[in-house]
Amino acid sequence: MKLFDGHCDTVLGLMGRPGSGPLPTGSLRENTLHVDLKRGLELEAYAQVFALFGFREMGFGDIFQTLYDRFQAEMDACADAVSLCRSREDAESAVKAGKAAAFLSVEGAEVLDCSPARLEEAAEKGVRSFGICWNRANEITGTCVQETDRGLSGKGKDMARLAQKLGMLLDVSHLSDPGFWDVERLSGGPFIATHSNARALCPHPRNLTDDMFRAIRDHGGTVGLNLFTEFLGEGEVTVETALRHIDHFLDLGGEKTLAIGGDLDGCESLPTGIAGIQDIRKLREALECRGYEEELLDDIFYGNLMRVLPVQDL
Ligand SMILES: [Zn+2]
Repeated sequence: MKLFDGHCDTVLGLMGRPGSGPLPTGSLRENTLHVDLKRGLELEAYAQVFALFGFREMGFGDIFQTLYDRFQAEMDACADAVSLCRSREDAESAVKAGKAAAFLSVEGAEVLDCSPARLEEAAEKGVRSFGICWNRANEITGTCVQETDRGLSGKGKDMARLAQKLGMLLDVSHLSDPGFWDVERLSGGPFIATHSNARALCPHPRNLTDDMFRAIRDHGGTVGLNLFTEFLGEGEVTVETALRHIDHFLDLGGEKTLAIGGDLDGCESLPTGIAGIQDIRKLREALECRGYEEELLDDIFYGNLMRVLPVQDL
């Protein structure tokens, strides 16, 4: 199968989260985390968005630069197995060459010091998706769990417009509800929720209401299924629990909207039977068993997210 996963925190995972014990062993090529190239390249095609995420207390100094340097070092060390892509064309060439197609995103404007100049710097370095916040409220917006009534400030709206002008997709996962609707109003085109599920099934503020999902659908964007158990349901969370979110989004007319955004290496627990990128095929196999059309599954697991990217670099 072909897989395009829209969100992982593997770059931070490789650096080790402060307080999370000994450093993980390995590199992007092969490691003990959820995501590595070795497992990804066993697929027919593998594209992955790597998020650059961290916060001040992690002691990285310049957060963006530190994360980017680590990412770049991994890309250099694994140049035979992965290429940084800025467009759909780039991804197609990478896949044709038997490599993984890597895309870069920033998760949280605070990674860029909420600075428009740094947003431009990030775009130049290849960042193609801009998550306006993580869970912590920042200078330009409140989030789904902190200062939840606060939408995008004037500066926030300006940065969101600038990101689009620079060829980035706006990512609304983690945003406050008012912030979501601010993005909806200003986007004028596709925007994405890279790793969010259905609030109707799992009432966590990180998840999307049905109206939010429909708004993303109507703008031609995508919503990536998040595999963190906390956003899927209560009790024992299995592949079946994840499929309920897929079914719900399909019931909302999400055939061209639904994608995958596993949150791998960014979440503490995954559904029973899923240990990493290698097991996402189990979701597809379960859907195949239920008789879902191949074409629909190709869209969900690969095509929809690929379609939302610019065909060519700006
Ligand atoms: Zn996240």
